[in-house]
Amino acid sequence: MKRFIVLLLGIILPCSAVAGEEVVIYSARKDHLIKPLLDAYRAKTGVESKILTDDAAPLLARLKAEGANTPADLLLTVDVGNLWHAANEGVLAPLSSTVLTETIPAHLRDPEHRWFALTIRARTIVYHTGKVKPAELPGYATLAQEAWKGRLCLRTSKKVYNQSLVAMMIARLGAEKSADIVKGWINNLALPPLDNDSKVMEAIAAGQCDVGIVNTYYYGELLEKKPELPLALHWPDQEGDGVHINISGAGVTAHAKHKEAAKKLLEWLVGAEAQRLFSDLNKEYPVNASVAPNAKIAQWGSFKADAHPIALAGRHQAEAVMLMDRAGYK
Ligand code: FE
Repeated sequence: MKRFIVLLLGIILPCSAVAGEEVVIYSARKDHLIKPLLDAYRAKTGVESKILTDDAAPLLARLKAEGANTPADLLLTVDVGNLWHAANEGVLAPLSSTVLTETIPAHLRDPEHRWFALTIRARTIVYHTGKVKPAELPGYATLAQEAWKGRLCLRTSKKVYNQSLVAMMIARLGAEKSADIVKGWINNLALPPLDNDSKVMEAIAAGQCDVGIVNTYYYGELLEKKPELPLALHWPDQEGDGVHINISGAGVTAHAKHKEAAKKLLEWLVGAEAQRLFSDLNKEYPVNASVAPNAKIAQWGSFKADAHPIALAGRHQAEAVMLMDRAGYK
């Protein structure tokens, strides 16, 4: 009898938590960054998640094509530019959740509640420790000055990270000032724009340039493999608007079949356990201010981050792309 009850409980407990619940996720995040979180969620709640991984653009195209027939409940991606587009294309639905609005600062979520930040990433300045003196460390705008001629490396303007960086600059400083800064950067380039942030740092370490702009988790990844590299991070504009930040985030789809389950998963993702996992797995900053970042990240020091609404990066993205094109930023 005892065995029977234990057996029965084993069947009932997970089922009562699950009640057939599952969440279907279209994810533009690398599997190894998101699967451990979903495994932890399943272990805790019994809720299954199905995940389809692809780049952000094909996932958005797929959501649009599938329309009301989409199996997707959640869209998970990096960069506010991608989230803003998805919302703009009508594939995300507003979600009312006090857990999300109380945990996520207002400037890191959609004012219309269609997307929410899950993590914060900082796009900051990296420099060659043997070639740049701390006293001359630049801000984003001062990187455009004559003193940095032939010393700057940048990633391609085709990457949404740089489009968001320039879009936020347009939002803060206006198009004219931003165009001057971007033109100055291009004037100062040591090499044509590079494919990715890691190549920017490798070029600096190799002595081909002295400074660059990268997302800090790439710095963390590279230095983990090659701790001897003469590279360090610098937090610019600490007297001004602060470091440019971006987000990874998610939104419930307009035609979600498991809306309530998707909402619960999102709420769990901004909780302490998930936030620590995010920070450990991808060296990102927690969006939940009550959770400390991973110890290695914390060693890079704290900084003042730009607090302008991140949605502005979406609103000014098209303008940023045109501005970079006119400035000759390939
Ligand atoms: Fe990235």
